[in-house]
Amino acid sequence: MKIAVAKEVEVGERRVALVPEIVARLVKQGLEVWVEAGAGDRSFFDDTAYEAAGAKIISNPDILWKEADILLKVGLPQEREDGRSEIDLLREGAVLIGFLNPLGQPTVAQQLAERKVTAFSIEMIPRTTRAQSMDALSSQASLAGYKAVLIAAAALPKYFPMLTTAAGTIAPAKVFVMGAGVAGLQAIATARRLGAVVEAFDIRPAVKEEVQSLGAKFVEVQLQEDTVAAGGYAKEISEAAKQRTQEVVAEHVKHSDVVITTAQVPGKKAPILVTEEMVAEMKPGSVIVDLAAEQGGNCACTDPGKDVLWNGVTIIGPINLPSSMPVHASQLYAKNLATLVQYLVKDNALQLNFEDDIINTACITHAGEIRNQRVRDILAQVSTTV
Ligand code: NAD
Repeated sequence: MKIAVAKEVEVGERRVALVPEIVARLVKQGLEVWVEAGAGDRSFFDDTAYEAAGAKIISNPDILWKEADILLKVGLPQEREDGRSEIDLLREGAVLIGFLNPLGQPTVAQQLAERKVTAFSIEMIPRTTRAQSMDALSSQASLAGYKAVLIAAAALPKYFPMLTTAAGTIAPAKVFVMGAGVAGLQAIATARRLGAVVEAFDIRPAVKEEVQSLGAKFVEVQLQEDTVAAGGYAKEISEAAKQRTQEVVAEHVKHSDVVITTAQVPGKKAPILVTEEMVAEMKPGSVIVDLAAEQGGNCACTDPGKDVLWNGVTIIGPINLPSSMPVHASQLYAKNLATLVQYLVKDNALQLNFEDDIINTACITHAGEIRNQRVRDILAQVSTTV
């Protein structure tokens, strides 16, 4: 089996799908690993390190894509400079694994099915204990939560910790984290380590204990509806529930120096949690870091990829934060991918058991078919509205 690692060509993507340490482990297990020349350059893993780990460096990307049995990537396949799609370079029956965003960009899934590629979308891996070591959504969200706090601390015109100095006492910064999933919990832990006083809010009541165990206060909103969907994810809540949560959180936003928003509902636009009116009530100099910027943002004033100064409040909408920490982001992602590859390959051959929930859920295209019902539904909707 040839496992190939392609160089990411998307602007701003600094991660690489495998790091030398993980390559060495796969090679030891009898797999052949090909790495595109320069694939690890932007994450500080050079070709010689991959070679030393047992990989073959391939200078011609066409050869790498065409000969791969399993092609590993971080982001979506792209159009190359010569106008050809990377998908068309793959051979029929090849396996592609990466963040393929099938709910956001279902037409890519369609192209992969047409090319008869077996595609695994790493974000579709079930969030179960059994699949935990393949869970790249978690490994990358955790990096984003950490970095969001550092960005906020750098932008805040204040200290985070409480300080008692000869020149006077400094009160600790107040941080409010909205959405206490993987990114939110890491943001809480990081803000606490920096000495801030932290509050957090989530519509899933089950996170209360996790928030409290990190030393933060949980802001409770009593909602008269079920907020948890299958797989432990949040549900999209009703307009009345949105209004109720906004009423409660407004006071906490108003008194915070930093607000970090991470709320998402899979496959939907991010919910607005911080309205313009709430931003207008914040103290000048306060900072909002909106981790949901790529999904439209949790703050009404967010401009994805930009820093906005609005009534003295800085609103930062970072895009692809894990890529800003490419060494550890790639290291963790590589471990997630290698675990999936080891799960799929037995005795040097691909074993696709669709009875297995991990394989069944994460495999979005196979043998010319789109296997995921939600992706099929979205495509059907798109074709009826065109
Ligand atoms: P996510 O990125 O989809 O969303 C982030 C957070 O935003 C979630 O906690 C969600 O409840 C919250 N949210 C959504 N709408 C909101 C609103 N209107 N107001 C406030 N908060 C809102 O979530 P995630 O971090 O990917 O985690 C999703 C689920 O997966 C969680 O239940 C988590 O515990 C679970 N999980 C399980 C495992 C495992 O068992 N191996 C691993 C990772 C995550």
